[in-house]
Amino acid sequence: MNVSLLDLKAQYRQIAPEVQRAVAEVFDSQYFVLGPQVARLEEKIADYCKSRYAVGVASGSDALLVSLMALDIGAGDEVITTPYTFFATLSAITRLGAKPVLVDIEPETYNMDTSLIEALITPRTKAIIPVHLYGQCADMQPILELAKEYKLAVIEDAAQAIGATYAKDDNIRQAGSMGISGCLSFFPTKNLGGCGDGGMVLSNNPEFAEKVRMLRVHGSKVRYYHQLVGCNSRLDSLQAAVLLVKLKYLDEWTNKRIKNAEYYNKLFKNAGLEKQIILPQVQYNNRHVYNQYVVRVDNRDKLREHLKQNGVITEIYYPLPLHLQECFAYLGYTAGDLPNAEAAAECSLALPIYAELTEQMQYYVVDKIKEFYEKIIM
Ligand SMILES: *Cc1c(COP(=O)(O)O)cnc(C)c1O
Repeated sequence: MNVSLLDLKAQYRQIAPEVQRAVAEVFDSQYFVLGPQVARLEEKIADYCKSRYAVGVASGSDALLVSLMALDIGAGDEVITTPYTFFATLSAITRLGAKPVLVDIEPETYNMDTSLIEALITPRTKAIIPVHLYGQCADMQPILELAKEYKLAVIEDAAQAIGATYAKDDNIRQAGSMGISGCLSFFPTKNLGGCGDGGMVLSNNPEFAEKVRMLRVHGSKVRYYHQLVGCNSRLDSLQAAVLLVKLKYLDEWTNKRIKNAEYYNKLFKNAGLEKQIILPQVQYNNRHVYNQYVVRVDNRDKLREHLKQNGVITEIYYPLPLHLQECFAYLGYTAGDLPNAEAAAECSLALPIYAELTEQMQYYVVDKIKEFYEKIIM
C-alpha cells in the first residue's frame, strides 16, 4: 500500500468545480492583486480567528517580517524565539538586523519552554515570537504575563495553527489572536493552503494593523505618497478566491485530522508500542489542529527507511535546529546549547495525518512500524 505524507489531489477532488468557478471569476475580472476577494477573505479570517483585523500578505514568512517592521525592530534589538521551527521564524529577525535569542523547547510539546524565557530578557529585548508548532499553541499565559511585565511585543507564529485554541483556563483563545500580531501561512501544505504562496497578519490593535496594511504596499496609504519604507507583499486575488472556498471546509478537515490523530493513538496503544514511540501530547484542553502528527521514536532514520520501502512517506520537522544552521553560526551557538531541540531533531518523525487518510491506511502505517520494532530491530 502507498501512503503519501499529504494528498492534496484527494482534497481537490472534493471541491474542484467550486474552486474552478472561483478562479474563473478572478480571470473574468482581470483584477489580480488584492481586490474584493482579498478584502472578503480578510474579513472571514479575522472572524474565524477571533481577531479584529486581518491583513493579507504574500506569505507567512512576510507576515513575520512585516510584523517586526511594524514594531520598528532592527539593529540593536533582541527577539526571543525558539530554535525548533521553520527557518522563516528566525530569518525574519535577522533580515532586519535584530538578534534572535533562542530558548530551548519542552520535549513533550516541542514548543518554547516558557520557564526559560525570563532569564534571557535584557534591556534590548523587544519581542517574543512563540511558534505554535505542529498545530498546538505554545503555553501563552506565561508568555503574555512576561510581555506585560517587561513591555515586550508578542508575535505569534501561527503558520501551522489556524483554528487551534489555547485553553489553559476557561478563557479559550484562538491561535493568532493573543499577541499584537498573529502570523498565518497559506502555503499549500498548511491546514488552509492556497494554490501558491500567501499569508496573513492578524491583530486586535488598529494602529498596528494599519501600519502593516501600509507596509505591504511600500509604506503608502495614497498611491505614490510614502510615509514609510515598506515592501511589496500583497496577497493575490486568485489565492483569496481559492482560500474563500477552502475556508468553508476547514473545520471539517481539521476535525478529520483530530480524529485521525486519535485513531493513531489508539492503534499505537493497542500495538503495545508505548516504549518505542512517544505520542503527541496535548496540553490543557487545547485544540491541537495537527498540521503534523509527530512522534518520537527509537532508531528514527532506520524506521523511516523501513516505512519508505513499504510505501509510507514520512518527514522530519526539523532535522537540524536553527541554532546549528550554517548561516546562523555568527550567533555563536554550539551543539549542546539547546539540548531538547537537538534531541527532538534526532528522534522526531511526522506521520501522514491529512484529512483524507483512511483507517486502513493508518492501520497499515502502524502495522509497518510494529513490524520494524518486532522483526527488524530486536
Ligand atoms: C510555513 C511556516 C512559515 C512560513 O510560511 P510561508 O508561507 O511558507 O512563508 C513560518 N513559520 C512556520 C512555523 C511555518 O510552518
